[in-house]
Amino acid sequence: MIDSFKHKGLRHKLVQTLVSKGITSEAVLEAMGKVPRHLFMDSGFLEHAYQDKAFPIAANQTISQPYTVAFQTELLDVSLGQKVLEIGTGSGYQTAVLCLLGAEVYSIERQLELFKKTNLFLPKIGYVAKRLIFGDGYKGLKEEAPFDRILVTAGAPFVPKPLLAQLKVGGRLVIPVGETEQIMTLFVRTGAKTFEKQELGQFKFVPMLEDKS
Ligand code: SAH
Repeated sequence: MIDSFKHKGLRHKLVQTLVSKGITSEAVLEAMGKVPRHLFMDSGFLEHAYQDKAFPIAANQTISQPYTVAFQTELLDVSLGQKVLEIGTGSGYQTAVLCLLGAEVYSIERQLELFKKTNLFLPKIGYVAKRLIFGDGYKGLKEEAPFDRILVTAGAPFVPKPLLAQLKVGGRLVIPVGETEQIMTLFVRTGAKTFEKQELGQFKFVPMLEDKS
């Protein structure tokens, strides 16, 4: 698995594109400048790896557009050692970005094929999540709760209650909410029963699915 000077150069350009689109977090830009996105995609799409676009991965899913990954990660505002739950492991690209930010990452994927593939692949290229889980993200991960941060990387038709319940006080949940298009939504838990909600623009994700089909 090669990460050449050409790949590094294209990645540098991608980071500049992210800056031009409004991403300002140095930590996020640095992490995305390091993760070799081309290795997370099927070889047929290699030449597209450093365009700011979503692309197909296995099981009819997509690797999110780099801008979307940057936007969500910036909003999540992760610091070193925080416990982060990701819903929708997919290719593992976002997981790798979170690992590089120094988070303890737990990530749930509901497609067995993707779970198996990414579970083998991520450690192979040096990204070690705390736990990758094959399961249903609507339920969160009760046995490891509470989390400092929760990130949903599929379009959620509604906000699953367990995700709000599994957030620490002071914690942040970033979730795209909607059926065909989604509104990026940030919840900050301000107390045992209180949350502050902010809506931050429209995005398009593959849907978060409830049953395993
Ligand atoms: N973070 C991924 C994005 C993948 S797309 C990446 O960087 O590549 C969204 C992913 O969410 C898909 O892999 C899809 O299978 C998964 N997903 C959909 N519904 C889910 C659910 N209920 N629980 C967990 N994962 C789910």
